[in-house]
Amino acid sequence: MSSGFNRRDFLKFSVMFPVGVAASNLAKFFRARQSGKKNVIIVVFDAFTAHNMSLYGYARETTPNINKLADRAIVYHNHYAGSNFTSPGTASLLTGTLPWTHRAMQPNSRVVEKYFDKSIFNVFNDFHRMAYSHNEWVNTHFETFKKDIDEWIPRLQLCNQSLSDSVIENLFGNDRDISSVAWVRNAEISGGGGYAYSLYLSRIISYFEEKVYAKYLSRFPKGIPTSGTDNGFLLEDAIDWVGERLISLDEPIFGYFHFLPPHSPYRPPSEFFELFSKDGYTPPFKPRDIFADKKEHNTERLREYYDEFILYVDQQFGRFYEMLERSGVLNDTLLILTSDHGEAFERGVVGHDTSALYDPLLKVPLLIFEPGRNERMDIYEQTSALDLMPTLAYLSNKETPSWSEGEILPPFRESENSRRGVYAVRSYGAEANKNMQEGSVVLLRHPYKLHYYYGYSELNGSEKILLFNLETDPEEMKNLASLEPEITNNMLDELKDSLKKANSPYL
Ligand SMILES: [Zn+2]
Repeated sequence: MSSGFNRRDFLKFSVMFPVGVAASNLAKFFRARQSGKKNVIIVVFDAFTAHNMSLYGYARETTPNINKLADRAIVYHNHYAGSNFTSPGTASLLTGTLPWTHRAMQPNSRVVEKYFDKSIFNVFNDFHRMAYSHNEWVNTHFETFKKDIDEWIPRLQLCNQSLSDSVIENLFGNDRDISSVAWVRNAEISGGGGYAYSLYLSRIISYFEEKVYAKYLSRFPKGIPTSGTDNGFLLEDAIDWVGERLISLDEPIFGYFHFLPPHSPYRPPSEFFELFSKDGYTPPFKPRDIFADKKEHNTERLREYYDEFILYVDQQFGRFYEMLERSGVLNDTLLILTSDHGEAFERGVVGHDTSALYDPLLKVPLLIFEPGRNERMDIYEQTSALDLMPTLAYLSNKETPSWSEGEILPPFRESENSRRGVYAVRSYGAEANKNMQEGSVVLLRHPYKLHYYYGYSELNGSEKILLFNLETDPEEMKNLASLEPEITNNMLDELKDSLKKANSPYL
C-alpha cells in the first residue's frame, strides 16, 4: 500500500478507538500519510535549565523519563537560549533571530513590526498551525503573529477553567439540593436584574472553590501551580487536552506548546514533594555576583523545590510522548523538547531576573525526536535557539527563511563543524526603537565563553569582561580575561562589532 499503512498500524488503531470511531480516524491517518508531510510539534517548558537535568549530568535524578526517551533522540548538550527571560528568549525561538534584531527585549514586549510576518508560524503556512501557552508574555507574541496561527488556544482554557468546571459540576451535578435551590432562586428573580442570584451563586462557588482547592492541596502541598497571580492549573490537564487534540486533528500540524512549569512558583506534587530534601547534595560554592538579587534567599531549599518540580515536568512529558506514540501520531512527527531560557540557583541569584548570563541561565535542553530513529545521538557542538527554525524548515523540505540568523543544526547540515559564534543577549530596559544603553552579551566560541556587561549602574561607568574555558571549567569559576589577553581581545572585538551593527539602525 503506497501510504505505508500496514496491519500493525491498523491494530494500533483498533485498540485505540472503539468501533465506529476508528473509521473516521483511519481516514485522517490515510490523508496524513498521503500528504507526505511530517507534523512538527515543539514543546517548551518555561525556565527549564539544562544545568539541573540528570540527562545532562546533574547529580540529582531529575529527569528519569526524559533520560529513557533520549535513547531515541538527538540530544544537544550545549544548546543556548537567545536570552535569559521569556520575552526575548521566546521571540528568538519563534523568529530565529537574536534579541538585538527582533527587539522584544523588555518584559512583555513585542518584536518590531518588520518581524510581524517573520515567525516560524509563517514558515509553516501550509500546516494547521496551533499555539498555546500558560505564560501571558508568550501570548503577547502569539497576538503579534496571530494572522499566521490557525488555532490559538486561549491561555485560560487550559488554566483554572478545569477548576471552575469542577465547581459547576459539583454545584449542579452532585448536590441536588443546592442546585435546585439555585434554580428556584434564579427563576424567582429573573427579570429583576439577577443581582441577588449572582451574589448567592458567587458565595456558593467560592465555597466550592475552597473545597476544590483543598482537594488539590493534598496533591500539591505547596499549593496548586499558578500562572500569573491566581490562575491555578494542572500541567496534566494541559498535556491531556493538547495530546487529545493532536490525535483528533487532520494532519499535518505545526504546534507550539509552551507550558509554564518548572517556572516559579515551584510547586511539586505530593509524589515528588521533598524528595530531594536531606539527600546530601551540595552544589559547588560560587561567590556572590555583582548582579545578585537584592534580597537574600534560602537558595538550597528553593533549588530543591525547583528540582522536584522538574520531576513533574519530566513525568508529564513522558505521558505526552506516550500518548502520541500510542496513537501513532509520532510515526509522522518531528517532536522537539526545549525551553525559552534557564534558571539559576547560584552566586546570589535565584530564578532568572538578573543581568548575569552564566550558563544555568542560558543553557537549555534540546531534544529532537524524528520518526524511525531508534538510537540516541549526542551533539556537543555549541548550538543556538536561533537554529531551530531553519532546521525544522530544512527537515520539512522548505527553503531556509531569508531572515534567519541561525544555522541548520548538526547532524542535518552538510558542512563540518561550524566556526560561527553563538550569542545570547539581554538588555532589559532597551526600548524597541532605541539603542541598547545597557546590556549583557555573551559570545561562545568553543571552548571559550566571553561575557560582556556595560552601562549598568552597578558597574559605575566601567565594563565587566569575563572569559571562561567551558571545556576545563564548565562551572565558570576561573576568569581567564587577564590571563588570556589575546583570546579575550579578539573575541571582545568581534562581540563589540556585532553589537555596533545591531545598534546602528537605532543610533
Ligand atoms: Zn520564560
